[in-house]
Amino acid sequence: MVTSSKAETNFSAGRDAATVIQVEDLHKYYDLGETRVHALRGVDLQVEPGAFVSVMGASGSGKSTFMNILGCLDKPSSGRYLLEGIETSRLSKKELSAIRNRKIGFVFQGFNLLPRTTALENVELPTLYARISKAEGERRAREALTLVGLSDRTEHFPSQLSGGQQQRVAIARALVNRPSILLADEPTGNLDSRTSVEIMDVLQKLNDDGLTVVLVTHEPEIAQFAKRSILFRDGRIRRDERIQNRPRASEVLETLPRLED
Ligand code: ADP
Ligand code: MG
Repeated sequence: MVTSSKAETNFSAGRDAATVIQVEDLHKYYDLGETRVHALRGVDLQVEPGAFVSVMGASGSGKSTFMNILGCLDKPSSGRYLLEGIETSRLSKKELSAIRNRKIGFVFQGFNLLPRTTALENVELPTLYARISKAEGERRAREALTLVGLSDRTEHFPSQLSGGQQQRVAIARALVNRPSILLADEPTGNLDSRTSVEIMDVLQKLNDDGLTVVLVTHEPEIAQFAKRSILFRDGRIRRDERIQNRPRASEVLETLPRLED
């Protein structure tokens, strides 16, 4: 499904920074008129290149707030966030969006594909803002679709694809600018259990190739496919542990029945 031996797909190439993500005493407040929500209450975290981290925690515990800051979609109220050694709080909005486009791939629960646009065009979209030619953008988009096992679906529209295929298109789109990290917020939240494991198979294989992955999920069976598990509670990290003997999604798939289609 995921073919990945080419040098092109070696995500760790040229990166020797000791940490991809370094977060220190991060706080986030949301001001809503007279009330103030303290969503993150002093979060510290280091993520090294090639890590695969799952983030768990009850609804409202701060997971998405944290991911949005990691993805440079939002800024912390206080504390430091260094992305590959770059102190993001000093950056302007424009610089942040440039970093986001270059270094971060985002995958969401709802796929967020453009409906009247083919798989290939959806994946090409982020390359339009990168400084590469149209032809190179298309080449990279095809390569990313091949990487997620969809080289035969490039001309399909989202409505012609299954949920799992749509999420793969979203993953390909997240990868097309060759980011340093892939951030996934509940990427399997809308998928059945077999399809969820297929998506984890894609993520495990990309991680094998050196891509750093941070994944939010509320499902323990999904979290166990990562190498490290973090638990949020009330805006703080309450547990951070290495996952021992994590299963390979490709092996689990062999034990799961295929849905007839
Ligand atoms: P999770 O993803 O773990 O469910 P969130 O990070 O979405 O948690 O939310 C953490 C807390 O911050 C919650 O109390 C939530 O209501 C609040 N919150 C999240 N986003 C906003 C926002 N844009 N404005 C105000 N409050 C928010
Ligand atoms: Mg959330």
